[in-house]
Amino acid sequence: MGTRVDGKIAIVTGSGSVGNGIGNGKAAALVYAREGANVVVSDLNLESAEETRNLIEKEGGDCIVVQADVSNSKECENLVSKTIEQYGRVDILHNNVGIEIPGGIQEISEDDWDKTLSVNLKSVFLMCKFTLPYMQKQGSGSIVNISSINGIRTLPALSGPYGASKAGMIALTREIAVEYASNGIRANCVLPGMMNTPFVKAALTEAWGGDIQEMINLRDAMCPTGKQGESWDVAHAALFLASDESKYITGTTLVVDGALTSSVKTN
Ligand code: NAD
Repeated sequence: MGTRVDGKIAIVTGSGSVGNGIGNGKAAALVYAREGANVVVSDLNLESAEETRNLIEKEGGDCIVVQADVSNSKECENLVSKTIEQYGRVDILHNNVGIEIPGGIQEISEDDWDKTLSVNLKSVFLMCKFTLPYMQKQGSGSIVNISSINGIRTLPALSGPYGASKAGMIALTREIAVEYASNGIRANCVLPGMMNTPFVKAALTEAWGGDIQEMINLRDAMCPTGKQGESWDVAHAALFLASDESKYITGTTLVVDGALTSSVKTN
């Protein structure tokens, strides 16, 4: 067990996983717990959140599970209240939830647009809104928002609402960082590139032709390193931003993409 976020209380939204395996949220919850944080594991899918709880407890970590749909204001409020009831404070807010409905502008429905913006972007606003008063009282806190390189680039599996929501997260993060800088509260975004996670298999296989292995091979081939990243890469970047090691870093983005956005292939 490490001590990089020792004694801190961390809420991680979407820290179950879509399907088998370790998604970005689950990895972040595990990494925070390994580094000494008490973790509030939250997901829409209770069963997947319980799996994360089992993994954390097996390693000797401490956590609670709170089910929440982060696109719902009341459920966000309840998630923060349960955190305060159990631990009395909140030091790290890690907004991980994201959904992607692929398709071009003419294929995407108005409902797809509303749902994506609500789950990916409004959720961040709501979670920050309910958490910030406690961080303000404490005079400290770190918000880590999981955006995407799709917020600054288009990608082969087109999704206008997904890209717009991820770009919106970057702008919202800047606003929060500036507004709360003098309160000792920081806000930053992690921008993952192509990561091989269960979410990608669930959401994108069809957009890439229907064959999972083929999709993985194609995504690997797009990456300058020859391989997609792992959820642990995102989690370790988040750990740095969540910890006091990054105390003078706020309002910025940390790209975790193995040089994908530096490569001409993405443009
Ligand atoms: P993940 O495995 O962490 O899955 C996301 C979790 O969110 C799931 O457990 C799901 O049940 C939960 N969820 C979905 N809707 C919810 C809601 N309304 N309320 C609460 N929970 C909800 O997925 P992942 O691939 O690790 O992605 C996590 C984040 O990383 C997302 O924001 C995604 O956009 C971002 N990201 C992923 C990649 C990638 O290549 N995997 C790349 C860039 C960004």
